[in-house]
Amino acid sequence: MIRPDSDGEAIIGRLGDIFDRRGAEAYLGEAVTMAEHMLQCAALAQAEGAAPMLVAAALLHDIGHFTGEFTYSPQDTVDHRHEIQGAAMLERFFPPLISESVRLHVAAKRYLCATDPGYYDRLSSASKHSLSLQGGPMDAAETEAFQGLEFHREAIAVRLWDDGAKMLDVSTPTFSDFEPLLRSTLR
Ligand code: FE
Repeated sequence: MIRPDSDGEAIIGRLGDIFDRRGAEAYLGEAVTMAEHMLQCAALAQAEGAAPMLVAAALLHDIGHFTGEFTYSPQDTVDHRHEIQGAAMLERFFPPLISESVRLHVAAKRYLCATDPGYYDRLSSASKHSLSLQGGPMDAAETEAFQGLEFHREAIAVRLWDDGAKMLDVSTPTFSDFEPLLRSTLR
């Protein structure tokens, strides 16, 4: 539980605790665990020389899957809009670049399906399946609206690392390795 009066240091401890306790859980039909997926995503961002805030967004992009960790209301776990849940928690502690990239990373998949020929075919089968639950490819009006959002480019970057972060048997830094970076991005 993240209390309303939690500070930045408390949230970093809490996030590390979630990675430790729940990181081994399956990542919705993928071959990697949740922790492997999020750590790989951050490592891909770092390997491309992304700014610390984007690395942080990559690291935390799916934290909303652990939605029950952040809410006082058990019934909230029924809805699986994990990008919304994640962003709602992150925006309390991190700047908008991070929370908005997380909020928009599912929309970015729908956007890329509409605008990048071949993107859909590169998605994993689990990701293709969730696409249909998430509304499918954007239509023209949605595409235009998405392009008008302040952090849509950052969300697309996170999305592409997200798609790549499903590799078997790769070693990555640990959550603790990213703690100084996360701390540097706190509001
Ligand atoms: Fe993901």
